[in-house]
Parts: sequence; structure tokens; C-alpha cells
Amino acid sequence: MESTERLEHEDIGYLSMKEWNRARWAADYALKFLPWLRIAGYVRFEVEDVRVDASGGAGIGIPPTKLAYIEINRLLGELNRWTELEDAANDMLGQFLLASLGREMSTAVARWPMEDRPHRVDAMRCGGCEQLTLTYRPPRWEGDEIRVDCYCGYVLNHDEFERSVTLIELEQREAS
Ligand SMILES: [Zn+2]
Repeated sequence: MESTERLEHEDIGYLSMKEWNRARWAADYALKFLPWLRIAGYVRFEVEDVRVDASGGAGIGIPPTKLAYIEINRLLGELNRWTELEDAANDMLGQFLLASLGREMSTAVARWPMEDRPHRVDAMRCGGCEQLTLTYRPPRWEGDEIRVDCYCGYVLNHDEFERSVTLIELEQREAS
């Protein structure tokens, strides 16, 4: 995947060099970005972009971040049938999947960049003191894990928070 000897060519398979580079970036960055995207809808952003619909309006309570997560996961899963991305680029279906992956990832990363500041979580109550006091804390260094914690000492790691998020989604689905 790191091979650069094809750089002199204009196209890689059916893809333009621009699409190819974007697809390669997308496939690589997705490993880092998807865990964040999975939970991003439950962390309050400064910009009123992600709405966690707790009012129980007409829509189903799935945040747009979750929909993007599902779509990107699906594209990566389908691309798994090729051992190398370059093989996919030489296939009619594969090149379409690669181009879609590049587009979906660019859009998602622009809309919901991985957060580097702490944020309030207002979609769920603290498991310790039952207040809306949870704070999402992003990784502080390369390889560090996210943490969700409360003044009362209650702490969740990424996996635990993701499980809680899954439970919220199940409850919303049953309620709708
Ligand atoms: Zn608490």
C-alpha cells in the first residue's frame, strides 16, 4: 500500500490520481477515525451541527454521525474482498467503492473532526451520580485512549462508553 513507483502514471486503475490518493488516505485514516465517529453524536460539539434528538420528534434518534459510521464501515467491509487497494482500483465495482469511501470520509472528517478538547456529554447520565455531568476527554497523546468521566469519580473508557451509546440507541429504537 505504501508503494509509490506508480506515481508517474496519471491514473490508478479506473481512478484518477486524486481519487486514488484520497481513497488511500481514507482507508488508512478510517482506522483512527471510525471509533471517534461511532460516539461523536453523543458528545456535544461547539457548533450546533450534531443534534442528539432527545425530544423524541418525528425522526428516528440516530445521529448523522452514526449513519456515516455505518456507511464507511460498509464500504470498508466490501473493499475487504480485494487484498490490495490497487486491485480494487482495477475493478469496476472496486473503483466505485474506493471513490465512495474517499468522498464519505472527506465529508465526515470535515463535518466532525476528531475533537482535541474536552466536551460535555449530554446524551446520557453519569452511572455514578445520575447527573448530566459526564465529560468526554480526547486522547492527550498518540496512542492515548479517550476517557469519559465525572466529578464523582465515575470513569468509562472508549469501549464502555461505546457500549453505553449502543444501549441508548437500542432504547431509542424500542421507544420509537
Ligand atoms: Zn457522576
